[in-house]
Amino acid sequence: SKTQVGFIGLGNMGNPMAKNLLKHGYPVIATDVFPESCKELQELGAQIVDNPAEVADKADRIVTMLPSSPNVIDVYTGANGILKKVKKGSLLIDSSTIDPAVSKEMALAVEKMGAVFMDAPVSGGVGAATSGKLTFMVGGVEEEFTAAQELLSCMGANVVYCGAVGTGQAAKICNNMLLAIGMIGTSETMNLGIRLGLDPKLLAKILNMSSGRCWSSDTYNPVPGVMEGVPSGNNYQGGFGTQLMAKDLGLAQATATNTKTPVPLGSLAHQIYRMMCARGYAGKDFSSVFMFLREDEKE
Ligand code: NAD
Repeated sequence: SKTQVGFIGLGNMGNPMAKNLLKHGYPVIATDVFPESCKELQELGAQIVDNPAEVADKADRIVTMLPSSPNVIDVYTGANGILKKVKKGSLLIDSSTIDPAVSKEMALAVEKMGAVFMDAPVSGGVGAATSGKLTFMVGGVEEEFTAAQELLSCMGANVVYCGAVGTGQAAKICNNMLLAIGMIGTSETMNLGIRLGLDPKLLAKILNMSSGRCWSSDTYNPVPGVMEGVPSGNNYQGGFGTQLMAKDLGLAQATATNTKTPVPLGSLAHQIYRMMCARGYAGKDFSSVFMFLREDEKE
């Protein structure tokens, strides 16, 4: 029978991901600082404990899905962190999007305890997390990849080995910089078309059969009423928070600066998402940039 898998961070993404582990027959032992996040999983049969150390005490495979670098550092190295109780030979997979340098730091600390760390950030959003169709970008020792794949394939359609620790994060940061640019581009395009008198559904349909098509136009359209089952149809609740996107663009900027890489549009996208955070959009889905661009209507 399958042994317990630990899961830490049951937010918008972690909750549906952990559910898919349960669905595949893995007993799950989980924790989150926000007790309300644990309710659904507990009702489905997961064991809920108080902190990451208790998870590490019981499970030798653990997935973390946390907002950002400081949360990951806390969950691994904090007073009740994983490293307080981690067993030798454990496999620790971090699927949060964080600074690749922090992934490398965690990998070193985990290695000192005789365990294995891999970074495995994801792409796909809450929809793909729910349907088990995420893309995982995995960094770490190649010999451990098969073991990671066994778990990750329960939650994803694509599990891609990228190279040494931190390279999963590198791939993810690049993807999200392009996603941000694409979402802003889709939003300003849709807004212009609407003001030119086009019906938004018709415009989306035309874009999606033309060269402007992208994920933001055909899978996650930012205009309310164009698509069902996306945050724009639900007052931009759930989904991928604007604050998280601003974080990812900050990571892209830092790595671009370090490597002297020009990223002019990534830079502009970062500033736009930072401004949105300061204007009340922090907790809304990142597709709300469409509403941000329409604020001139209030004037
Ligand atoms: P979220 O904020 O909805 O969930 C994070 C969860 O972690 C929350 O429930 C929070 O209470 C918990 N948490 C924070 N600190 C903790 C701690 N110290 N101990 C235990 N639990 C703690 O975020 P999310 O949307 O699920 O995203 C998680 C990660 O995945 C982020 O790095 C994000 O950038 C990335 N991501 C998100 C999406 C998306 O569409 N939402 C897509 C791809 C990648």
